[in-house]
Parts: sequence; C-alpha cells; structure tokens
Amino acid sequence: MHEFLLPSLYTLSGISLYAALHHGLIGIRRPFEQTHILFSLLCLFVSFYILTKALGYKALTAQQLVEVRRGEVMLVCILFYLLPTFVSKYTGVASRRLLAGLAIFWGVMGLVNLLLPYGIYYIEMPTLTYMVLPWGETVVDLRVIQLSRWHNIGWLGLVFVMGYCIYACLDLYRRGRNGRARNLGWGLILFFSSILYSGAVTYGHINFIHLAEFGFFGLLMIMSLGLTGILRSHERRMQAVLNHVPAVIYMKDLDGRYLLVNRLYESFLNMSNAQVIGKKDSELFSSKFAEMFHINESSVLANLIADEFEETLYLNGEAHTFQSLKFPLLDFEGLPYAICSISTDITESRHLDQEMHLLRRKIWHADRVTRTGAITASLSHELSQPLAAILSNAQAGLRFLAHDDTDLEELQALLQDIVRDDKRAGAVINGLRAMLKQQESPREIIDLSQCAQDVLELLHSEFITRNIEVEPNLTPGCTLLADKAQIQQVILNLIMNALEAMANQPAGSLKLKVTVDIQSEGKACCCIQDNGEGIPPELLGRIFDGFYTTKAQGMGVGLAVCRSIVEAHSGHIWVENNDDGKGVTFHFTLPIDTSYKIPIRPSRKRRKLPSLTTT
Ligand code: ADP
Repeated sequence: MHEFLLPSLYTLSGISLYAALHHGLIGIRRPFEQTHILFSLLCLFVSFYILTKALGYKALTAQQLVEVRRGEVMLVCILFYLLPTFVSKYTGVASRRLLAGLAIFWGVMGLVNLLLPYGIYYIEMPTLTYMVLPWGETVVDLRVIQLSRWHNIGWLGLVFVMGYCIYACLDLYRRGRNGRARNLGWGLILFFSSILYSGAVTYGHINFIHLAEFGFFGLLMIMSLGLTGILRSHERRMQAVLNHVPAVIYMKDLDGRYLLVNRLYESFLNMSNAQVIGKKDSELFSSKFAEMFHINESSVLANLIADEFEETLYLNGEAHTFQSLKFPLLDFEGLPYAICSISTDITESRHLDQEMHLLRRKIWHADRVTRTGAITASLSHELSQPLAAILSNAQAGLRFLAHDDTDLEELQALLQDIVRDDKRAGAVINGLRAMLKQQESPREIIDLSQCAQDVLELLHSEFITRNIEVEPNLTPGCTLLADKAQIQQVILNLIMNALEAMANQPAGSLKLKVTVDIQSEGKACCCIQDNGEGIPPELLGRIFDGFYTTKAQGMGVGLAVCRSIVEAHSGHIWVENNDDGKGVTFHFTLPIDTSYKIPIRPSRKRRKLPSLTTT
C-alpha cells in the first residue's frame, strides 16, 4: 500500500507554515501595509486546516472524527473571513459593511459549530467508513451522509465570499492593474473550482475525496509568488528612483539602524549598500556626528512632524553641509516605525552665500565711505571749532600762570572748558570711526531714536552750512536688535539725499523732519521728510533699484544699499511724495525688540555755529 495523500497533506501544511513565516517577516518590516500580515495569517490557518484534514483521514474513532472536523469547521470560518479581508487590502476594494457582515456570519457559524453536539457536519454520531484511493491508500471517508441545515447555510456565506472576491478582482482589472488582477484571478479560479468540486463530492455527485485543501494551497502559492514579485519590483523601482535623486536619502528604524540608503549616500560614505544596511550611525561616524543625528532625529520622532536641519559632517576628508528634511514614517495606527531623511548638499551654495555676504558688506562700506566723504568739509569745521576753543583756553591758562596772583577758580573754569571741548571733538571722531569701520559688528540692542540723533549730531554743521531747519521728533524706547553702524548708514543716506534734493530750492524755506516712533504692529518707524524737488510718480518704483541716479556725480547705490540693509534686518522701506506736493518722505520700519529698553541720551547742548561761507 502506497501512502500518498497523507504525506502530501503534511508537506503542504509545512510549506504553508513556511509561507506564513516568510510573509510575516516581510509584514513586520513593512507595517504600513497590512497585505503581508493578512496573507501570513491566511497561510498559517491554511496550514492548520490542511493538518485537520490529514487528522480527519487518520481518525481512529467516530468521536475523534467529530472533534477533528469541528476544529476543521472553526478554521474554515476563520479562513472565509480572512480571505475577503486580504482581498480587500490586495485590491483596494474595501467594503467595510460586507466585511463586518461576514465577520458576524462566520462568528455565528463558528459558535453554532461549537454548540452543536456533533458540530456543523454531523446531525448524529457518524460511523467510521473507509475509502480506498486509486493508488491503494485507505483513508477515513470524510463525506457526510446526512448533512445538517447549518452546513447548507454555510454555503450561503461562501457564495457571498466568492461574489465579493470575484467583484474585487474584476474591479482591479478594470482599474488597469492587470498583473495583480491576473494573479488573483488565477488563484481564485483554482480555489473556487476546488470548492465547487468539494461541494459536488459532499452532495454525492462525485465519488472521491474533497480537494478544497489543495485549492486553498494552490491559491496561497500563486498569491505568494505574486506578492513577492510585486514587492521585488516595487523595491527595484523605488531604489532606481532614489538612486537618481540628486540628494542623499536614507531611512532608519527606531533603533537608528539603516533600512535603506540611496547611491549618493553610498558614494559619500564610500561604502556599498550592503555595508550600510543594518548599521547604526555610531558605527559609521565619529561620536560627535552620530550624536548630532541622534538629537535631530529624536526630536522629529518625539514631535511626529517633519522638520528641517542643517547638518555639517566630514565625508571623505571634506566638510559637507546638508540641508536635511527629516520626517517620521507612520504605520496604519499612526505610530512611527522609521524615520526618513532627504538631505541636499548645500556646501557650494553656502560658500557662495558667504561670498555674496562679503561682497554686500564691501558695497555697504564703500557707500558709507563715499557718503561720509561728502560731509568731511563740515566735519572739519565741527572739529576745528572745539580745537580752536581748546587752544585759546590753554593760552589763556598759560597767561594766568605767568602772573603771581593766579586766580585758581578762573583757572579751574578754563580747564573744565578744555575738557568739555576735548570731549566734543572726541565724540565727533568716535561717531566718524563708528560709521567708517569695516568689520561687521554683532547685532546689539540699539535705540532707533538714539541712532537718528547721533546722525543728526554728525550732520549738525552740514545743516547750518546749508541753512536747513531740522525738526527732530524722536520717541525714546524704539529698541531694535540691529547693527548700529548699518542703521546709521541708512539714516545718513536718506538725510544726505534729502539735503541734495533741497540744494536747488529757495533758501529760507528748507525743512527736514526726522521722526522716529513706534507703530502698533510691533514695529519702529523712521520717517525722513524734506521739501526738496520731489520724485516724479513714475520713478517712485525705480529709485531703489541699483544704479539709478539723476545726479551728475551720483552712483545710484545709496538707496539700494538702504533697502538691502533694512531687508537684512527684516524691515521694509518705501517712499511717498508729500501731500502738499513739495518734497518726499522716506519711511522705513524695523521689527521692535520689546524685551529691552535703553534710555535715550540727552541731546548735546550746542552753541550756534556761524554759517560757513560756501564757495
Ligand atoms: P545717488 O544719490 O548716488 O543718486 P541713491 O540711490 O541714493 O543714489 O538715489 C537714487 C536717486 O533717487 C537719486 O539720484 C535721486 O534722483 C532720487 N532720490 C533719492 N532721494 C531723494 C529725495 N529725498 N528727493 C528726491 N529724489 C531723491
């Protein structure tokens, strides 16, 4: 006698178990899609189902047969729920109601199967009969003589399962997913024909054993090959795309082990894909860089949102700066299972940025030197006045000392005058030095009103020379975080332009208003109003563009510099013609820093200087 059926069933059960493990492991690595996990469960229960069939064929007593077949029915109930659930994930044709209905249906069937004394198959204790298979093997006859009503109801559920699976498969085909649909289609044809065949056996139309377990197994194998093929082609396609992206891309699991890297990253690391996968940063980089990655990635995983970081690290002996977008990968329950990073090498553009920055500073400085050069005549007057006063006070002091009866009080007053005049000259020089210094100074808390006041003081002689009435209106407490010299440069440029615009206007009416105040939206505003020649409305939009000038000696750089400084401080600058049609008002706003208030220094008391004669 050749035993063929039972060894085959054991083998099929073993293969199904292996398939369950294989797809289970894939499913664990890809928790964002449930297809593999569901398929693994399907394989697992098919493996048990085939085993119960084998046990049924080998049953020694009727009681044993009843219990084994009861178990078989339980597994059938589970399988006929799992199959449509898997099909819904595989095809994307999800009908929650149908699946819920099937869950209830097969749940009730399973319960009835447990409660009935002989399970769903038998209405009374069966007698063991045997069947001799064509190759001589003798097995227990599993055909049922008198079927229970419940058994027929089970067929009804099966019709629903078949109908849904066929519909989902056709829908998949209709949507153009021919490969997937064909795969599922062949599996279902094999499976359902084995079920129909088994029905024919059950109802006595065919005199042979049931083959449903072979149908189930066939379905699983076709699907397993299909799923693995789909996975491979997905991975190949994704890797091909990632390898051609001009950015470093990698994925790490929650322990920080690399799951995926693209070719650019491999070339940066000088390692192959296989050498990187499964490793942690601590095995690839020094502890400093590994720590940097860890901190950035932990914050993304803690907040569960995408975030951008600038990461600098040494690769192949060179420092590279990357702009990295990191985001968590979430499973179907919204829990993170990995982190992905897309990093662009911005080393080159950083260098260019730095060069541009330096260039801009140089232009700003050149402009400042030019502007300040224009006021040196009045500054020399500003300096010569206190120096002359110091000289005459010192000479007077010497004369006092030549007399025996030196009046010490008078001498003290003279010396105090010398000290005061010296400080004044020192203040002018310091103001100039601050304006002309080349290095970039760190941003500090400054008062916009104080800046304007400093510039007005520097230009004091210029106003007198040009016979200009200045009307300052400076609100104290406009504190900003800014580079003082740069903000002073903006004010100086705007005032110098105003003076030049008033140069050809009739004397006696020239007025410059300088206002600094706080605007409601947390901004400090500085307005410089003149009553000069004004700007034709059609040119208002152009004057901030570089190299636009209407002056014979002009370079057209001043306003462009003003705009770039103001914008570098997150501010805004614009110009308007005055309502009365005479002159213009330049406005610029800068964000206020409310965290700090500095007191405004009281304005220096000035002696009225005699007007300089202009030639
Ligand atoms: P420059 O002073 O070298 O010409 P600017 O960029 O400072 O360069 O100014 C550009 C142009 O804007 C000036 O040539 C002038 O025509 C116009 N402009 C600037 N300020 C005023 C003003 N207050 N009144 C009238 N025109 C002005």
